Amino acid sequence: MSEITNETVSAIDATLRDVERALERLRTGTYRHCQVCETPIDEADLVAQPLLANCPAHPELA
Ligand SMILES: [Zn+2]
Repeated sequence: MSEITNETVSAIDATLRDVERALERLRTGTYRHCQVCETPIDEADLVAQPLLANCPAHPELA
């Protein structure tokens, strides 16, 4: 098994936070809407990227 680097741990940690934020958005009912402008996110985009938080106009995963 190769060495686990701090970068690997950081990447996993960042992904975990994205998942936690997605779950929180599911609980609060904002999951399907852009975090920036509240536009509904396309269902197909959410199927392809379940952690997608923003519409195409605001692509940053904030
Ligand atoms: Zn938006």
